[in-house]
Amino acid sequence: MIDPNSSAATLAVRGGESADQAAGAILFPIHQSTTFVQPAIGVDRGHTYGRASNPTVAALEQRLAALEAGGGDAVHASAFANGMAAVTALVLATTGAGDEVLCSRVVYGGTRRLLEEILANFGLRSRFVDLADGDPAAQLGPRTRLVLVETPGNPTLEIVDVAAIAAATRARGIPLAVDNTFLTAVGQDVLGLGADVALYSTTKYVEGHNAALGGAILTRDVELDAKLRRVRKSLGLNQKPFEAWLTLQGLKTLPLRLARHEENARRVAEALAARPEVARVLYPGLPDHPGHAIARRQQRSFGGIVGVDLGSREAAQAFVARLRLFRLAENLGSVESLATHPATMTHADVPPEERAALGLGDGLVRLSVGLEDAHDLVADLVSALTAEVTVR
Ligand code: PLP
Repeated sequence: MIDPNSSAATLAVRGGESADQAAGAILFPIHQSTTFVQPAIGVDRGHTYGRASNPTVAALEQRLAALEAGGGDAVHASAFANGMAAVTALVLATTGAGDEVLCSRVVYGGTRRLLEEILANFGLRSRFVDLADGDPAAQLGPRTRLVLVETPGNPTLEIVDVAAIAAATRARGIPLAVDNTFLTAVGQDVLGLGADVALYSTTKYVEGHNAALGGAILTRDVELDAKLRRVRKSLGLNQKPFEAWLTLQGLKTLPLRLARHEENARRVAEALAARPEVARVLYPGLPDHPGHAIARRQQRSFGGIVGVDLGSREAAQAFVARLRLFRLAENLGSVESLATHPATMTHADVPPEERAALGLGDGLVRLSVGLEDAHDLVADLVSALTAEVTVR
């Protein structure tokens, strides 16, 4: 067993290691099996049926838990088929009809759709509020049963102060969950800042290669972990063995990759900020970002996502059409650089007037800065900004 106090670089490769006892394979095997033979009635070897648990998925959970704990008190991890499955399980495990979920106003569009369109039909209420400013305690309502924040928020990278919100939720006994997809445990220790739950779309930086969807929830609360597993089993939200195996491989290089993503993103953000064609650059690492001071304090990394506002949909369209290295696609956090147009892609379901109020206009392009050479990436962006306008 690896020392749980090891650094993130070691824990990402070896943390929570489960050895392959059968043949000594250095990579934990893919247990591609729906069911597990039980030696006798009422006896099992840790796994019974694939919807409830699987050894390869458990190996991923143990490594994620070791990385999140970072040598601190034990953390429990449950892996899900994707990030939305994790959000669904979290909401269903903590709330019921008539309750309210309070969210930071800038969140992934799918989280909003789930709460406002799907779960609202079952009597669950949700409110999306500005938690970046003012007293968070004043935002908690009498029926608030879960606070879910995304920081940095997708896609404008709005930063909220996790410790300040945790002080307010603790006083009321309300669980605070932080969607830490943009930074991962390597870039931001949300449990250490006072959150009760860290949530991930592992599809992004954790897996990191555009190869597998996944989600994960990490908490020190044993009861909540058990509830999450019950919801997962009941709804069939479980992660699959092959996806878990791919995610285990990706996870090994997460600390290395995140460091390079951040370095490349900084170079990209600084280059874009110097361009007259650009209306606004959103990157928490830039001193003029509204959340810069909090980000410096609560994050270990400024991350690899940069927002660039070109002022209009036409300008954004022309810019994206001329990119060669960055490709237009939904997803982020992978080795390949991607450009996304939130207004028509990830956040298309957010009403246009609300999008505008959130600073998520038609001219905004979200760049997931990959691991290609920084010089090449900057050259790609600058040539896309400066070429003759020919909308494809
Ligand atoms: N949370 C955040 C911050 C995301 O960006 C996403 C997806 O883009 C999700 C959750 C949902 O994850 P998935 O696509 O794996 O279901």
